[in-house]
Amino acid sequence: MHRIIKTVPKSLFGKGSFNQVADVIDNLRSDNKPYAVFLVDDFFKDKTLAKRIPLKGSDYLIWVNVDLEPKTTLVDKIRDQIRDGNKNLPCTIIGLGGGSVMDYAKAVSVMLTNEGPSSQYQGLNLAKNDAIYHIGIPTLAGTGAEVSMTAVLTGPEKKLGIKGEFTPFDLIVLDPELISDAPKNQRFYTGMDAYIHNVESMTGNNRNAISDSYAAQSQVLCREVFLNDKLTREEADEKLMVASYFGGLSIGFSEVGVCHALSYGLSYILGYHHGIANCIAFNQLEDVYGEDVKEFHFMVKKHSIDLPKNIAAGLTENQISDMADISIKLDHMWKHAFGAEWQKHVDRKKIMDWFRRM
Ligand code: NAD
Ligand code: ZN
Repeated sequence: MHRIIKTVPKSLFGKGSFNQVADVIDNLRSDNKPYAVFLVDDFFKDKTLAKRIPLKGSDYLIWVNVDLEPKTTLVDKIRDQIRDGNKNLPCTIIGLGGGSVMDYAKAVSVMLTNEGPSSQYQGLNLAKNDAIYHIGIPTLAGTGAEVSMTAVLTGPEKKLGIKGEFTPFDLIVLDPELISDAPKNQRFYTGMDAYIHNVESMTGNNRNAISDSYAAQSQVLCREVFLNDKLTREEADEKLMVASYFGGLSIGFSEVGVCHALSYGLSYILGYHHGIANCIAFNQLEDVYGEDVKEFHFMVKKHSIDLPKNIAAGLTENQISDMADISIKLDHMWKHAFGAEWQKHVDRKKIMDWFRRM
C-alpha cells in the first residue's frame, strides 16, 4: 500500500521573514475568526524575540514550557483554555519554538475542531475535521517537525503522533535569524536529528527515489554545516534550516529506523529530549550505521559537544527493560530497518544490550 503524503503548501523563507508574520495574520482574520493565538516556547519570555511577536487587538500569547516533551494532557489544557475563553475560534494558531512547540501548535489546531481527548487521536488519520489554520516558526533546526505530517505526543499509554492530512502546517516561516542564538549543544543535538533522519531514511526498506533525493541533499547540507569551517554562521544557519526541511520530507516518504526506536525508549522512560536522546543512541550504533556513526563521532569531537555517556550504569534492570518495551513496539521502524521478518534480527535482549552500551 502506498501512503498519501501531504506536505506544507506554503513557505516563507529567508532572513527577516519573521517580520512579515503580522501581514500574514491580518490576511487570515475574519468576522467570526478575528484573533490569533501564539504558542511560544517560554525560553523566550525574557528574550528580545518576545518583544517582536506581532500581537494585535484580541490576539493572545500562551507561553509553553517544554522541559518535558509534548504531552496529550497539555494539548487538551491549551485547547480548553482557547475554547473556554472565547466565543469564536481563532483564525490561526502560531507555534514559535523548537520541534516541541511546533508539535503543540499542530496538535492544538487539530484538537480545536475535533472532540474528546487528544490521546484518542494518537495514530494515523483519526481526526475527522480539518484543523484551524496553523503556522510553524522554528527556532531550532533539525527535527523536520515544520514539514511533517505528525505531531509527536506522549500520552498515557504511548509516545505516538497525531498523524494525518490535517496535521501539517498551512504555512511555515523559516527565518534563519531565529536560530542564530541557539546554544552550541542544543543546536547540535537538534541538527543531528536531521542527519540521523537522513541516514535512517536511506538505509531501510521504505526508501525510494523521492526519500533518497531529499535525504541525499539534506546530508550534503548537514555536512557543510557541521564540517565546513569556511561557512559563516549566517550561511550555516540558512543551510541547516533547509537540511531540516529536506530531512523531514525524506522521512515523510520513508521511515526512521533503529536509532529512533531506541531514542523513543530513552525519552519515554528517562525524559531525554528527542535530539539528545538520538545522539546518545546513535553514538553507540556503529554496528548498524557504520561509517555514518564514525562521522558523527568526528563531528561531536570537532564541536566539543557534551554527550552523556555511561548512562546505563546508573539505571536499574527494570528501567532498561521498560525502555526495551517501548522500543520493541515500534514495529514500523524495525520493519523499515530490518525487513518484514525483523524479529529474526532483533529481540528484546538485543535491544536491552543496545541500551546497556549507552
Ligand atoms: P525542543 O523544542 O524540544 O527544545 C529543546 C530545548 O531548546 C528546550 O529547552 C527549548 O526551550 C530550547 N530552545 C528552543 N529554541 C531555542 C533557541 N533558539 N535558543 C535556545 N534554546 C532554544 O527541541 P527540538 O530538538 O527542536 O525538538 C524536539 C521535539 O520535536 C521533540 O518533542 C520531538 O518529539 C519532536 N519531533 C517532532 C517531529 C515531527 O515530525 N513532528 C520530528 C522530530 C522531533
Ligand atoms: Zn527525529
